Parts: sequence; C-alpha cells; structure tokens
Amino acid sequence: MTTAELHEDHNDHDHHRDTAHRGLTPLLDRAIVSSGEGPPVLGSLVGGVAVAPEGEGTARISPATGGIAFRVGGGSLSVVEAAVARARAAFDTGTWGRASGRDRARVLARTALLIEEHAAELADLLVLETGKPIREARGEVAAAANAFEYFGGLARDLNGRTVRDIGDSVFAFTVREPAGVAALIVPWNFPLGILGQKLPPALAAGCSVVVKPSPLTPLTSLAAVSLLLEAGLEPDAISVVLGEGPAGAALVAHRDVDVVSFTGSTATGRHIAAHAGSQRLKRVALEAGGKTPVLVTAHADLDEVVEGLTFAAFFNQGQVCVAGSRILADAAVAGELGERLAGRAARLVLGDPWSESTQMGPLVSQQHFDGVFAAIETSRAEGVRVLSGGRRPEPGGTRARPFLDPTVLWTDDDHSTAAREELFGPVTVVQPYSSLDEAVERANASAYGLAASVWSNDVREAMDLTLRLRTGTVWINGSTDAFPEIPLGGRRDSGYNAEFGREGMEFFTESKTVQINRAGRKDWYTA
Ligand code: NAD
Repeated sequence: MTTAELHEDHNDHDHHRDTAHRGLTPLLDRAIVSSGEGPPVLGSLVGGVAVAPEGEGTARISPATGGIAFRVGGGSLSVVEAAVARARAAFDTGTWGRASGRDRARVLARTALLIEEHAAELADLLVLETGKPIREARGEVAAAANAFEYFGGLARDLNGRTVRDIGDSVFAFTVREPAGVAALIVPWNFPLGILGQKLPPALAAGCSVVVKPSPLTPLTSLAAVSLLLEAGLEPDAISVVLGEGPAGAALVAHRDVDVVSFTGSTATGRHIAAHAGSQRLKRVALEAGGKTPVLVTAHADLDEVVEGLTFAAFFNQGQVCVAGSRILADAAVAGELGERLAGRAARLVLGDPWSESTQMGPLVSQQHFDGVFAAIETSRAEGVRVLSGGRRPEPGGTRARPFLDPTVLWTDDDHSTAAREELFGPVTVVQPYSSLDEAVERANASAYGLAASVWSNDVREAMDLTLRLRTGTVWINGSTDAFPEIPLGGRRDSGYNAEFGREGMEFFTESKTVQINRAGRKDWYTA
C-alpha cells in the first residue's frame, strides 16, 4: 500500500484562510445579513435583497481551511413563495419576460465578461466552499464564463420550423417560447460549473429563475447572481433560495414553477421525478448519478491510458458524475495497468488547495468522507484488493480536513460495492475481461447510463464498442470533458433531458404550433 504525498505549509495555509475570509465580502455583500466578529451569515437573495435566516444559521466548515467559513440559513417555505412570486411577475409582467433576444444576449455576454474580470475572487470562493485545488477552481470559473458566452449567442437564435408541404390549404410553423419560471437545483461538486450548465440556457430562452444551490456550496451561486444583476438583469428575474432538501422539494411541487432542472444524486432525482406532477404536470431535466465504465482494449496505448485515467479518476477528488470509476481492461494488459495506475496515484500531490503544486485537495465534508471511506471498507470485506491508497493520509497537519488518498482497487467480478455503486470519491477499480463482448455486456448491465469511455488505437474496434455502449456520452481515448456546444446527459438511472448544446436551451422552451388555413374548409375529412 502506498500513500500519496501530502504537502502542507502551515503559514501559507493560515494566510489563505485570512484572505479567503476577506475575499468573501466584495461579491457577497448583497447576501451577507450579518458580519460581526464571527463568520458571516448568508441569506437567500430574493429580488436582489437578502432575507435573513430564522435563527443564527447553520455553520459550514470549509474543507479547505478546517474552520467555519460562513453560516447559512434554511430557506423557509415563505422564502420559496416570495422567490417564485417574483420570478412569476418578472416573466408575466416584468421587463425580462418581454426582453428581445438581443437584450437577453447582452446580459449574458456582459455576465461572461464580469465572470472573467472577477475570476480570481470566484476561484477563491470555490476553493473555500469545496476544497478543490485552486488550479481546478480557475478552470471551473473559465468554463462558467464560456457557457454564458455560448448561450448568449444562442439567445438570438431561438427559432421554430416552417412547414409548407402539408397541402394546398395549410401552411404551418412552430414558435419556440420560453417555458416560464425555471427552478434550477444544483449540487456541490461543481457549484459554479453546473450552475453554468443551467442558468445561461434558462435565461437565454427567456425564463425567469429560482436557483437552489447545495447548502454546502452557496457562495458562488450568490456571487454569480450579483454579477448578473450588475450586468443588468431585472432583479425579480433571479432569486437564490438557500436551504436543504425541503426547499428544493417545495420548488419542485410549486404550481407556479414551470420547469425544473436538477443535478444531483439518483435518489433525489427519483424523488423529484415522482413529485414533479403532484400539483400540476411539469417537465424536469434530471442529471443524476453515474458509474462510468472505462473500456481499455489490447490496442490501447498504456502510457496514454495511465495519464488519462489518473485524471479521469482523481480530478476534483473523484467527486465527478462521469469520473472513470470502473476500469474494464483486457486481461492481457489489466495487471500491468493496475500496477502502473496505482504507482501513478501514489505520486499525486495532496495538500493545501490554495497551493499551485497541489493536485488533490480534501473531500467536500467530513460526512462525505465517512461515506466514501465506509464504501472502501465494505468493498475490502467483499474481497476487493487495494492496490494503492484506501487510507487517510497521516501527516503533520491535515487539521481534521477530510483528505483521502487516491485509491486504486482490483476485483475480478461485478459483485462488490466498488464495482457497482457510485462512490463519488477518489476511488477507481480495475477489472479484467476476457472478450470484448463480455466487456460490453458488463458495462451495459449497470443501472447507470451516464457516460463511458473507450481506449483503443484501432479505430474500427473503438467505433464498434462506442456504438454498442448504452450511455449518453462516450469518449474515445478521452474522459470527463464537457463543452457548451454539445449535449451531456444520461439514460436509465442517470436521468434524462440532457444539458448543454441547443437541446439544453430548448429544454427551457415550449413549442407552439401555428396553422394557417389558406383556403377554408372543404370537406369533413381531408385524407
Ligand atoms: P443531492 O441529490 O444530495 O443534492 C443535489 C441538490 O438537490 C441539492 O441542492 C439538494 O439540496 C437538493 N435536494 C435534496 N433533496 C431534494 C428534494 N427532495 N427535492 C428537491 N431538491 C432536493 O446530490 P449531491 O450530493 O449534492 O451531489 C452529488 C450527486 O450529484 C452525485 O450522485 C453525482 O453523480 C450527481 N451529479 C450528477 C451530474 C450529472 O451531470 N449527471 C453532475 C454532477 C453531479
């Protein structure tokens, strides 16, 4: 067993803790309801104004510092009511509901520029709320700006179809109209990146929105709203409701919410799918869990595979819905791959997330760490072998922050927890297969259908496998990347209605069909 390197510089660390606290204020001023001696208390933002939580709010310990970063209140049902009422008014009678494509495009484009201008502050907030390394946080900020830019362009190109070949008397066309009020429910693993998958397309389509971030990571959602308001968005068109599951559930059931876009666990997705029709029928987009199978064939370049899969498995501490968490490798290469991947994982640098040399930070919370660690222990008890990691690094100075060594496991079959379940941490499992048919069958047997990847330099083999895999995305000799131009979505227990791409914006619209009768009715039946 090996342990990845844990680098700590206490002085540096304390310095960052201080600057991070100071850095909280500029973009979050609007949302801070009390900032005396202790950590700031954050309120929901309704129509641009903070609503103080009932009581003193729940303390959130930053995984990056180990200290309390802020207090956050539960969004009571009255906050949900107020936010939805504002959004309804902005859509039905406000300026946002009547804004032209160009108006909407300009707000989104200005926001993209403001995100870039404030990139350093946003990246600091991301580190503070998630514990991810600063270099990855910068990438997430850039991805959010890119999404605002892309959907800003699409806001001016929201069109239906023209149909003239029905017959002499009928000419028809379809109109794409904004769906109305959209509830956007966001998880903690990419709080700004995933907000960027929902908020720009919803606004581009002309919806007004209520955002519900994870209670662990509200900072960047609140900051992004500040920037949107600075960019000229009507305040009532966007609110942020803080709180736990019940606040999200109230949005899902609300009569005045027209569409729901959710990213999170399959368990919550199931709940949302079941309740979205309780008060009225409404469409939902569900981006839920995954267990991405990675197929490595005998025709893959192992050097490339080791580098690629180190990233796929351990980027963002493995807290990625499309993480390469299950590696099905040709039996001829599986042993060597497992060994080399374990060696590579052991050399990853864990440490202060604000350090430029850090490759992995802590997990998002102690509670999440406990769940991932317990799943590794269960897998061991089920007979899974640990090739590398599987421990909490011991070092001078983790300060109770929830670090976990990058972990490479080995098992021959698909029965274990590690092979079947989404652990959502820095854990991957190598499994040998003896034929490509067997590999495809085992990959497709998963309850999840989010993504897969194929590693092979034989183009025919790679394409054949790709077409046989039943997932929403397949990467060939790659992993995890997402781009605003192309859809990203799942099947089966990974959800439905993809995000990104033109489809991602059309989700936030309704299609209206218009028929023009050019000749008057002639018969009862036209067939
Ligand atoms: P989660 O399901 O616990 O929470 C997600 C969001 O839903 C949070 O804002 C939460 O407060 C809210 N919520 C909880 N209960 C609710 C309810 N009953 N009704 C409405 N909203 C409710 O997920 P998480 O732990 O924050 O995120 C991790 C999960 O997200 C993983 O399973 C991961 O695979 C998934 N994820 C999926 C994608 C994707 O694109 N498919 C991307 C990122 C993360």
